[in-house]
Formats: sequence, structure tokens, C-alpha cells
Amino acid sequence: MPSKEVRVRFAPSPTGPLHMGGVRTALYNYLFAKKHNGTFIIRIEDTDQTRFVEGAQEYILESLKWCGISPDEGPGIEGKYGPYIQSERKGSYQDFAQQLIDTDKAYYAFDTPEELDKIRNEAKKMGMANWQYNVVSRMNMRNSLTLPKSDVEKLLADEVPYVIRMKMPRNEDVRFHDVIRGWVVVNTNNLDDKVLFKSDGMPTYHLANIVDDYSMKISHVIRGEEWLPSAPLHVLLYDAFGWERPEFAHLPLLLKPDGNGKLSKRDGDRLGFPVFPIDWKTSEGELFSGYREKGYFPDAFINMLAFLGWNPGTTQEIFSLEQLIDSFTLERVSKAGAKFDPEKTKWFQQQYLRAKADKTLAAILSSSVSNSVSDENLETICKLMKERATFPEDIINDGSYLLENPSSYDKKMISKKWKSNTDEIMNKWKETLLHIENFDSQTIETNFKDFLSKNELGFGAVLLPFRILVTGVSAGPGMFDIAAFLGKQEVISRMEIGLNHITKIKHEA
Ligand code: GLU
Repeated sequence: MPSKEVRVRFAPSPTGPLHMGGVRTALYNYLFAKKHNGTFIIRIEDTDQTRFVEGAQEYILESLKWCGISPDEGPGIEGKYGPYIQSERKGSYQDFAQQLIDTDKAYYAFDTPEELDKIRNEAKKMGMANWQYNVVSRMNMRNSLTLPKSDVEKLLADEVPYVIRMKMPRNEDVRFHDVIRGWVVVNTNNLDDKVLFKSDGMPTYHLANIVDDYSMKISHVIRGEEWLPSAPLHVLLYDAFGWERPEFAHLPLLLKPDGNGKLSKRDGDRLGFPVFPIDWKTSEGELFSGYREKGYFPDAFINMLAFLGWNPGTTQEIFSLEQLIDSFTLERVSKAGAKFDPEKTKWFQQQYLRAKADKTLAAILSSSVSNSVSDENLETICKLMKERATFPEDIINDGSYLLENPSSYDKKMISKKWKSNTDEIMNKWKETLLHIENFDSQTIETNFKDFLSKNELGFGAVLLPFRILVTGVSAGPGMFDIAAFLGKQEVISRMEIGLNHITKIKHEA
């Protein structure tokens, strides 16, 4: 149980669409906040203007809305700690950077991008692949640690572009506790002097992130594992400012269904499942498909996502959002990467589809069927088909024979199962059906059984051809339910049409 008021944030950068891993980060933050009567905040981190992608912010907000992950504070939702878009907070960061310079925790660096490139290239030639601006190399560079004070003042007065860099301490162990990973220790000799403030007057992600987490009173930083390498710097920044550190929880990566790599945006279309919550179209017109447009229910998607890295410790798998809030703990989030499983995702969707009331499904489908189909009939169709469907549309696509005559007949099954006496059996069975007065499922079944025993016939020898004549296909929901739904006239007429058709097929063969 957290001892302080819980305030958490999801802080995406609008550099592209939100991958499902991002949605999971938002979800875990949301669940944690709601569980502890806390506040869930959305903050847009757009300080890197070179990576800004048009439409990404709107996409992120719309995706979360579709998932039902609604913020208590965020863009467009007034709160005490706004604005919630970093570019709108631009004016506040410089003072913080200055504070670090004044306390000797950071310094000005005047090296131009060209100078830095040159050094990197030379280092590469000498076999040093990753040259870093760090505690050693900074003493050979043009910065306020190496230049005389008067030179620095002149450069600043002349408005020569500069960046502000973190003055990484030499050989210190940075220790912090991660709720999911336990104690993490990193030596500062392995860290570089990261840029905190850029020459364009904008803070970098690191500075803006820390300043805003502090200013917005964030209690727990819950984010993806890819940010773990940045955490020691962040911890040092908290210490440098003299601020209390938040709790950290770095969530496991989402892995490809095949192999061990990180799930990437290209995997989706490569393996035929969406990686994004909703459709995303790039400015070049390339489309990445989304769960929403594929027909997934948001609650099924969320349920599946919750299990990618967390489990409740029981065998229960179906959880509503409220139940997730109730059961979620960071302690039950695993360290190991979570392999995404498209089949399991489908399974969740099927469970949610089956659990939906027939009326609800009928309402979803009503605009996809002709006006002549009554609400009552559509509900019955949903009831009959939903056990076999994954998406609502499957109900009317796979069950099209419940709405109209079959347009084709399963030829393979016919050639395999249609015996020389099948036509005759079907004609006889048709006669029996004609004489049934109460054409309900139970009565049809009773008559069917009588028919089998009287004629000494096996179940399959009659049921399968009957099904093919009425539906065109060889599998589906209970045949007596189908027959009762269609009604006597319709069943008889379909059997006649079907028999004619099959005679024709046989003739052609
Ligand atoms: N803006 C970072 C991102 O895009 C946020 C990382 C964090 O939560 O600290 O993921």
C-alpha cells in the first residue's frame, strides 16, 4: 500500500502512433491509480520538435478513449498542475537548468554539432565505436569547465549557441529501488554527460520529464523497460535538485510471437494481427491496422493487454476493467519480457463476444443487414452463431444462410458423402418434415430420431446432407435450431432447391 497520495502519469511523445506496448503502460498506470484512489494523468512530451508527427497526439488520446482509459488530468482536462503538453510549459524549464548550473551540477557546452561529429568520426576510426561526452572527454571539449570564465561570459553575451550538460560525478554508485526489478546499481563512470537543455531553447526529454514529474507531484513512475537506462540519470537529477525521488517501476518488454525480439510495428502486418489500438495512416498513405477497426471489443483488448506482463496469481482470465482495478498490483508484474500471442488475443475476443447479450450484438449488426430482418430474428441469429464467431461480423458472414438461401454448396463434402441413396433419404425426410405440426427444435429432433430408427439409418447419413441442403455448408450451430428458425416452408423449399442443384452438380461431374 503506497504511503503517499498516488499520482501517476502516462507521458507519451507524439512521435508516431501508440503501439500496444504504450497502451499497456497507460493501462497499468491507470489501474494502479484507480486501485489506490489516486490520480491518472496524461502528459504529452513534445520537446523534441524534430520528431514531431502530425496527428500523433490526437491518435494517442483517441486510442486511450476507445480503451476506456480516461485521465483525471491531461490535455483538455483542467487540473491544478497544467498545462499538460510540454511545449506549452516551455518557459518553465530554463530556470531549472540554470539552477543546476548555479550549483555546479551542470555546465554550458559550446561544441558545435560539426565539431562533435568530427570527434565521433575520428574515434570510430581509432576503433572506438561509441565515443561519449563524459567525465573524461569533457576536459578536452569547449565548455564552461575548460574555458576561462571570461570566455564563457563573452560567449553567452554574444549569444553563441550552447547546450547545458549534466556534470556526471566520477565513480559513484547510483542506487535506486525499482518495484518490479528490486535494487538497481549503476556506476556513474558508465554514464555520459547527457544534454539537459538544447540550443533551440527547449529542454531534452530528461530534464523536462524530471521537472514535470516533480511539478506535477508524481508519486510513481511506471514506464517501459526501455527507459531503465535513463533512470540513473533521473535519480541523480532528483538528488541534484534536492527533491524526493518518486518510486520507479519499469515494465517488461513486449516480445514478438515468434523469436525473442521486441514486438515492432512491422510484426503486425507481417504476421497478420494488429499492433496498434486503432488504424494509423502515415503521411505517405501507408496503413497500419488497429484492433478497433478489426472488430475487437475494447474490453477484450484491455483484458488481453493486462495479462501481457501481469497475472492475478489465480486461474481467472476474464477480468472487467473494474475487476482489473481491484486485482492489479505492481508486485505481480513480471521482470521477464511478455510474449505477445495473437491466438490468445483472439480467444479473449471470443470470450467477450460470447458473453455479450444477443440484443447487444444485434444492435451492433443492425446496420449491416437489410431492414427486412426483424430485431427478433437478428437476435436469434446472434444467439445461434455467437459460439462460433470471433467478431460480430462473423455472425452474419458465416451465418449468411440464416438470412438468405445458400449461394453455393460444399462440393467437396457432397462428392465425399453423397451416396447413391442420399437423394432418396432426403426426399423421405422432407416428407416427414412436411407432416410436423409444431415446427420447433425439440419436435424436429424427436421426429428425426424416429426417422433414423424406422429407416435404420445412422445419424451422419441423414444430418449432414440435410445440413448441406439447407445451409450449403457442412458445419454450424445445431441443425434443429436452424430448421426451427427458418420455418417449415423455408426448409422444405431449400431442400428442393438444394436437391435440384446437387443433381446438376452430379450431372456435370
Ligand atoms: N516521453 C517518454 C516516452 O515517450 C516517457 C518516458 C517516461 O515515462 O518517463 O515514452
